[in-house]
Amino acid sequence: MKKIIAFVFTMVCIGCKPAKNNNEVYTIVTTTTMITDLVKTIGGDKVAVKGMMGAGVDPHLYKASAGDLTKLSKADLIVYNGLHLEGKLVEVFEKMNSIGKTTLALGDFLPKEQVIHSEAFASAHDPHIWFSIKNWKTITLKLVAELGKLQPQHAAYFQEKGNAYLAALIRLEVELKTKVEELPIEQRILVTAHDAFSYFGKEFKFNVVGLQGLSTATEAGVKDVQRISNFIIENKVKAIFVESSVPKRTVEALQAAVASKGSKVAIGGELFSDALGSPLEETGTYVGMFRSNVNTIVDALK
Ligand SMILES: [Zn+2]
Repeated sequence: MKKIIAFVFTMVCIGCKPAKNNNEVYTIVTTTTMITDLVKTIGGDKVAVKGMMGAGVDPHLYKASAGDLTKLSKADLIVYNGLHLEGKLVEVFEKMNSIGKTTLALGDFLPKEQVIHSEAFASAHDPHIWFSIKNWKTITLKLVAELGKLQPQHAAYFQEKGNAYLAALIRLEVELKTKVEELPIEQRILVTAHDAFSYFGKEFKFNVVGLQGLSTATEAGVKDVQRISNFIIENKVKAIFVESSVPKRTVEALQAAVASKGSKVAIGGELFSDALGSPLEETGTYVGMFRSNVNTIVDALK
């Protein structure tokens, strides 16, 4: 990896580019699909967005390819989640900073009280910040300001896009809170493959249980499966959920453990946790992903 990084930097420094003129489109490289969707929405046709990760890709385990490093080294701006979500890219972002690339970590946009503290994770914070719509609104506002700084000639354009998106997020919040109301508070128990939904749980009043920890790099142990299967039986949980970016086997093992104790739990469907759906589907956008998740959860637990 170090050799590839050094090679790409050498290439970049040979071809140092002059400053851009007003009409040139800026290239922004993003990491997760949620971030790609956000930057495309705010940047519109004034920026070219190149996402590193596609649908179903797990950001905890993602390693940069040689192609990614070339993309990053040519970017005018790099936007990533931070808080150690992209655990295998930390060194890459540090290197990009050291060659003068502008990087933005969305986690840094949030005030302390909007971030969930977690001793168990490398950053000491839960990195799944997009599952709070409040957070996504704060991030939208900050991103509008940052893009305006990068291209002041288009600041009003970004502002307009940002305002329309904030209105869409407010509508989404109202719609989803109404949907969640269909579920009595005692049935709001969300068991998933890994611990991605704490922000969601806090905002929509769910008790959230993840089989793996905050990162999918931590495998679930036999003890975890036993403990959570007992919890499912005691609380009469009707359904548990697989995630599109995590192998199904751990959740299936949990279902089997419940069955081995003479009880039953359904797999309630697939949730989009750390990646959006296909760009051709409604779930390929943040708004569509959130709506799909809430409908899947509520319909399976009712
Ligand atoms: Zn995760």
